[in-house]
Amino acid sequence: MREDVADFTIAHEKAQSFYASYERKGELQHQTHYCPGCGHGVIHKMLARAIDEMGIQDRTILISPVGCSVFAYYYFDVGNIQAAHGRAPAVATAAKRSRPHSVVISYQGDGDLSAIGSGEILHAANRGENITVIFVNNAIYSMTGGQAAPTTLIGQKSTTTPCGRSAANEGYPLRVSEMLATLEAPVYIERVGLGDNKQIAQAARAIKRGVENQVKGLGFSLIEVLSPCPTIWKMSAVDAQRWVRDVMEKTYPLGVLCDRTKEARVHAMPAAAPPLEELPRLLDIPEDDPAVDVPEGAAKAVDLQVRVAGFGGQGVLLLGEVLAEAGLDAGLEVSWLPSYGPEMRSGTSNCHVRISNETIDSPMVSSPNMLIAMNEPSLRKFVATVRPGGWILYNGDAIPADCVRSDVHELSIPFTHVADEIGDARITNMVMLGALLEITGALPQASVDSALKRLVKSARWYELDERALERGREIYCGSLAVI
Ligand code: SF4
Repeated sequence: MREDVADFTIAHEKAQSFYASYERKGELQHQTHYCPGCGHGVIHKMLARAIDEMGIQDRTILISPVGCSVFAYYYFDVGNIQAAHGRAPAVATAAKRSRPHSVVISYQGDGDLSAIGSGEILHAANRGENITVIFVNNAIYSMTGGQAAPTTLIGQKSTTTPCGRSAANEGYPLRVSEMLATLEAPVYIERVGLGDNKQIAQAARAIKRGVENQVKGLGFSLIEVLSPCPTIWKMSAVDAQRWVRDVMEKTYPLGVLCDRTKEARVHAMPAAAPPLEELPRLLDIPEDDPAVDVPEGAAKAVDLQVRVAGFGGQGVLLLGEVLAEAGLDAGLEVSWLPSYGPEMRSGTSNCHVRISNETIDSPMVSSPNMLIAMNEPSLRKFVATVRPGGWILYNGDAIPADCVRSDVHELSIPFTHVADEIGDARITNMVMLGALLEITGALPQASVDSALKRLVKSARWYELDERALERGREIYCGSLAVI
C-alpha cells in the first residue's frame, strides 16, 4: 500500500449486502426480481426490444431510479447509471450533454418522478433535454410497502391513507404528463397502459417512438405507462390489469398529450470538446500572464500538507487562501478546503491546504506535515494528527505540557502580541504565515506577494500584511537557535 494512502482512515466501505454481481439461482435465472404480474417486467421487455430493433445498444445509457426498478441496470446490457432518489432526469441531462451521441433513457417510477423528483422532471422537460423518460405510474409507492404517492387515486387505500385518499387531506392525484404537456419544450408526451394486449401493443409503439425522437435529435419525450402492481394493490395479476383499465384510466386517460415532432427543430450536436491545450485561448488567459508564470525555484519537490485551525474571525481561511494562491502562482498543484461551523464569528474554523508538484489525489489533510494552531482548542484538537517529522506553529507562550510531542518540530510564539506590535492583532495570521514560508522555503516571495495583492484589496491592509509576513520570517530565523 502506498505510504500516503496508508495514512487515511477508511470511513465507509461497500456494504456487505451490496452485490458485486447479481446472481439468480437455477430456475429463476430468466426471471426478474419483479413480482408476478408486475408491469416493470413487461416495460423492460418493450424497451429492450426497441433498443435492439433500433441497433442502439452500444450507445444507450439507462438511468435507473430508486424504487422497485432500482435494479434495472441488471437487466439491460447497455451503459447504466443508478441515480439517487428523484435525480434521474438531472443525471440523464449530464450524461446526454457530456456524451451527445449517446441515447439516454431515464426510467422512473411515480414515487421517484412525481414526488421527490418533481422539480428535476419539470426542469428537464422545460429545458427540452434531448432525452427519453419512461414514467411508470402504478399509483403508489411500491418499494416501501405501499405508502400513498402523488399519483394515488382519490379513495385509494394505502398504508398512509388507510381510509382512502381524500382530496381535502392529501390533495388531488398529480397528472404529471398533463402538467408537462403545457410546457413549450417537450416534443412528445403520451400516456399508455398495460391493461390488456391492445394497450400493451400501443405502449410498445409509444416507447419506441420516444426513443426514436431522441435518436433523431428532436428533444424531450416522456411516455407514462399505467402499470399494474398486484402485490401492493393486493390483487391477482388479472384483476390488477383490469383495475388499470377500469379504474386508473378514469383519472389518467390514455392518449397523446403533446406531439410536436413534426415542427420540432433537430437539436444540433455539440461540437467535440476542444483539446486541453486550446483551453487557455478559449478562456482568454494570456499566455504570457505573469500570474501563471512559474517562478524560478518552484521546480523542487514540494509536499506541503497544511492544516490551519483557529476561531472564525482570526483569518484562518485567508491564511490558507494566500498560501494556496501563492502555490498556484508558483506553478504547483494546490487545493484549499475550508471547514467551519455555522457561526461566522468565534466559531471553530479550519482549512486544509495542499501544495505539491505532483497531482493531488484528495484535498483532505488528515495528517498534516504543518499545523498552524491559532489557539489552544485548535492545538488540542489536531496535535495528534501531525505526522512525525512535521511542524506545529502555535499561537501561545508555550505548548501545554500534555500536548508536547517529541517527534515533531514545535514553534510556539505569542504571534498575536507580535501582530499587535506591528499595528493590528488581526494580522496574526500573516505573521504565522511568514514563519511557515520561512520554515518550508517552498514558495518564492514573488508568488506570495502577487497572491496577497489579489486577495487583499485595501492598500493599508496589504501593507500591514506584508510587514507581518516579513516579521514572521524574522521570528522563525531568530528562533532557530532554540529549536
Ligand atoms: S411491488 Fe408492485 S411495482 Fe414493485 S415489483 Fe411488486 S408488483 Fe412490481
